[in-house]
Amino acid sequence: MRLINFASGSKGNSTLVTLGETHLLIDCGISFRRLQLGLNFAGVALDDIEAVIITHTHSDHIGGLPVWFRKSHLKFLVPELAARSIVRMAGAGNGDGRFAYFRAGRDYRLADVELNAFPVSHDAPETVGLKLVGEGERLAYVTDLGVVAEDIPRLLERQDVIFLEANHEPELVAACSYPALTKKRILGPRGHLSNQQALALLTGLAFPPRAVVFGHLSENNNSPELLQSRAVECELERRVEHVAVASQRRVTSVEL
Ligand SMILES: [Zn+2]
Ligand SMILES: [Zn+2]
Repeated sequence: MRLINFASGSKGNSTLVTLGETHLLIDCGISFRRLQLGLNFAGVALDDIEAVIITHTHSDHIGGLPVWFRKSHLKFLVPELAARSIVRMAGAGNGDGRFAYFRAGRDYRLADVELNAFPVSHDAPETVGLKLVGEGERLAYVTDLGVVAEDIPRLLERQDVIFLEANHEPELVAACSYPALTKKRILGPRGHLSNQQALALLTGLAFPPRAVVFGHLSENNNSPELLQSRAVECELERRVEHVAVASQRRVTSVEL
């Protein structure tokens, strides 16, 4: 299994996941040029991508869609509740047969990969986390959620890799210069996960993953160093073999 994150954060998100022989992209919040550079790095051809799964409709996850749609033959799997606006945004007319739709809480199959899209608490319609299983390898992708709902720890048990949001330090958000409403959103139950929430989730798992990639770090209210010092405080390395931190600007790769 291989996960290559091309970019992660509030300015754009996209991740390539390879399970068995199947290549999938998660989110299209980066330019087509950056996608091409990422795929070159990965040694994967655009035509070999099975589908692009879109977790939700915020621009940092979907902003590249119109150009990706126009310049490629990629197929997109998108939340059904937002389907109409997504197809319109792509400038895709009736979708050209390149859109399929999912509902949170249901299971799907993409080539030889099973996909479970589960709902998370966030302020976009039908935002999902993803669980992907292919050839016995298991990966979970969870970003853009304000709280760890009751069912999420159970869903994240026994994964090989978890890509998990660790967005901010609450004290830094509270003290920063953002407008009050923005702070309230970030810290609220439909905003983003803090370092503490992410680490509590991971350290509470009975069967932790072999690898964790932290993502969607705030550039103003978090840093890889701060997150890593929090991870050391809770002895994450005793439970998880590989820990990486994804970046807004560079590629991050994990292979098991
Ligand atoms: Zn986001
Ligand atoms: Zn979002």
